[in-house]
Amino acid sequence: MSAVAPQKSLLVNGYEVVIGFETHTQLSTHSKIFSRSSVAFGAEPNTQASVVDMALPGTLPVMNKGAVERAIKLGLAVGGYVSDKSVFARKNYFYPDLPKGYQISQFEIPVVQGGAVSFLLDGEPTSVRLVRAHLEEDAGKSLHDDFVGQSGIDLNRAGTPLLEIVTEPDMRSSAEAVAYAKELHKLVTWIGICDGNMQEGSFRCDANVSVRKPGAELGTRREIKNLNSFRFMQQAIDFEILWQIEQIEDGYAIQQATVLFDPDTGETRAMRTKEDAADYRYFPDPDLPPLVISREWVARVQAAMPELPRVMAKRLIETHGLSVYDADMLTASQHTAAYFEAATSGCGQPKLVANWMMGELSKRLNGDGLEIAHAPVQALLLAALVARIQDQTISNNAARQVFDALWNGESADVDALIESKGLKQMNDTTALEAIIADVVAANPDNVVQFKAGKDKAFNALVGQVMKASKGKANPQQVNDLLRAALEA
Ligand code: ADP
Ligand code: MG
Repeated sequence: MSAVAPQKSLLVNGYEVVIGFETHTQLSTHSKIFSRSSVAFGAEPNTQASVVDMALPGTLPVMNKGAVERAIKLGLAVGGYVSDKSVFARKNYFYPDLPKGYQISQFEIPVVQGGAVSFLLDGEPTSVRLVRAHLEEDAGKSLHDDFVGQSGIDLNRAGTPLLEIVTEPDMRSSAEAVAYAKELHKLVTWIGICDGNMQEGSFRCDANVSVRKPGAELGTRREIKNLNSFRFMQQAIDFEILWQIEQIEDGYAIQQATVLFDPDTGETRAMRTKEDAADYRYFPDPDLPPLVISREWVARVQAAMPELPRVMAKRLIETHGLSVYDADMLTASQHTAAYFEAATSGCGQPKLVANWMMGELSKRLNGDGLEIAHAPVQALLLAALVARIQDQTISNNAARQVFDALWNGESADVDALIESKGLKQMNDTTALEAIIADVVAANPDNVVQFKAGKDKAFNALVGQVMKASKGKANPQQVNDLLRAALEA
């Protein structure tokens, strides 16, 4: 286990909030964790359920190495210990969508132990410790709405590989919990072990929430199940916190329970009282040998790991002088980071690229509901545009017009657009000096006022020159030349 529990104090009505997360990430393998059926989303019910998934007698599970490899990646990404030997266990319970009568999971020795997830919370570096991450299979699904008076069972999901990632109860606010969940989501998609699709259930969080008076023992927790949107996560936790405080203030004790969030009412509702581990009668699964992970395997996975987002953010700060905030934004996803790096190497202007990405580009992406991977203005096109700002061919204002034209598909040629729209900045000193001479001659009053120390008069003259150049003069150059002319 790494480090010590974070010291954070944030009170809600005199109570300290304590939150721990259990996140089910669906691993991005093609087939299931113990069978060869496909895990593709959206298939007709029961078309992806093999005899193993249906738990027919005499069938045996076979471990999918791809799932293990993804668990190793997570272990390395969070700086946890990848167990050299871990054990699959049977978690026994009855539910119609669980035909075996038990779920294969890991109990005593999980595949990953310890580690931490670090992120920024309101600009402050924060860290949440992990207890463990263990491999397990998903259950099937009961279909209650498809038949009148009957329920159906779809076993397509049964046996889907999950990695359950469990934190210490380190979080102290809903904002921190959401920031943690976002960072974990970023991490698992970044290292390519999970597609991160929350609507399809690839990333589901259970939030364990309790409250206590500062300094008291941990309070009794309630577990909000299956949060699959960051917005609902925040709402659910906020509601739960206030509900628990109210209960305690009214003299009731909190009962340990599993609750569901109802987005329609914005409330959490008890689903069942919570089982303890003992109720599941865990025992090692005799059908599966212990999972042995050689150090060579770990080393091979390590060698193929991408640069992690935190490491990359640090590199961007150090090599390009970007701010912590900018570096964090630019490493929001692999696609964003790749875009930034490609655009920067295309024009050599990291700060301008960063400004454009977080300004115009992100504005247009949001407006059109697009992911950066599908942006009509791709990295090299932005680089070409930035290069023309940098070499003073166009002003920032003109560049925005070119960006819009690129975005709308008018042309994919920056220089052609600058030409056809007549946006070229006037950098010809002689021509500019001629304009300035005309303006100075035509505005003697302003000249007199300038000489009397009035800045306003100077600005008025700059405005006249800009107007005479039809907005194409470089404002800085106008300033310099005008001042020189007036002081000559
Ligand atoms: P279980 O296996 O029964 O779900 P765990 O002890 O594994 O219980 O804890 C599950 C999650 O609940 C962990 O993320 C842990 O940090 C969190 N947790 C445990 N106790 C509390 C508490 N009192 N308040 C908030 N979260 C808690
Ligand atoms: Mg648990």
